[in-house]
Amino acid sequence: MRLILLGPPGAGKGTQAARIGAEFGIPPISTGDMFREAIKLQTELGKKVEKYLSSGELVPDDLVLGIVAERLAQPDTAGGFLLDGFPRTVPQAQALDGYLAEKGQSLTAVIEIAVDPEILVARLSGRRICQNCGAVYHVVTKKEQETGVCDLCRGQLIQREDDYEATVRNRLAVYARQTAPLIQYYHEAGLLMRVDGAKPIADVYREIERGIRNRVEQ
Ligand code: ADP
Ligand code: ADP
Ligand code: ZN
Repeated sequence: MRLILLGPPGAGKGTQAARIGAEFGIPPISTGDMFREAIKLQTELGKKVEKYLSSGELVPDDLVLGIVAERLAQPDTAGGFLLDGFPRTVPQAQALDGYLAEKGQSLTAVIEIAVDPEILVARLSGRRICQNCGAVYHVVTKKEQETGVCDLCRGQLIQREDDYEATVRNRLAVYARQTAPLIQYYHEAGLLMRVDGAKPIADVYREIERGIRNRVEQ
C-alpha cells in the first residue's frame, strides 16, 4: 500500500499518519520531520534548509527529492509507505511518479484532508510537538497527560517556530499557490479521496480507514 496524505498545514496529516502507519503496518514518512531532524543535528542539509522552514517557504525541489529518494530506497518501504507533506509541488509529484514507475510500482490512493483556513490558524497556534519523538499534541483538542511532557517518550513538548502567526499566514498562502494544484493532479489520475478534516480526530481516522479499505478491495 502506497499512500499520500495531502492537505494544508494543520489539517491533521501528521496526527493521522501516525495512526494509519501503526494500524496498517507501513512507515509514515514526513519530509518536514526529516528536515527538522537535520536542522537539529546541523547537518549539511540542515544548514541549507533552515531558512526555508523558518520563513514558511518551500525547500527547493532538488533538495526534497534527494532525501525522499534516499528514504524510499530503505528496505522498510518495500511493503508500502505513507507520505506526509510530500509531494508539495507538481514537479515533486511528477518525480515521484517517475521514481515509482522505474520500480514498476504505483500509488494506491491520495487522501486529501480538507479543512477551512480559519480552523487551521487555531490548530497551528495550539500545536505542540515532542522535541524528542515528534509526536503531535494540541493545547485544547489533544492535550498531553502531564503538562509539557510527551505521553509516548516523556520528551519535552515545544511549539514549532514556524507555528507562530506571522509564518502561519505565509505557509497557508504557499499551500494555496504551490500545493493545492496537486488536488487536481491526483484527481485526474483517479487517485484522490477527500475526507472532512474539520471533524474530531477519531472521526477523521474512521473516514480515512473506510476509504482505504474500499480502495484496496476494489
Ligand atoms: P505542516 O505539517 O505544518 O504542513 P511540515 O512539517 O510538513 O509542515 O513542513 C514544514 C516545512 O518543511 C514546510 O513549511 C517547508 O518549509 C518544509 N517542507 C516539508 N516538506 C516539504 C516538501 N515536500 N517540499 C518543500 N518543502 C517542504
Ligand atoms: P499537519 O501535519 O497537517 O500540519 P497536525 O497533525 O500536526 O497537522 O495537526 C495540527 C494540529 O491540530 C495539532 O495540534 C493536532 O493535535 C491538531 N489536530 C489534528 N487533527 C485534528 C482534528 N481533527 N480536530 C482537532 N484538532 C486536530
Ligand atoms: Zn515523544
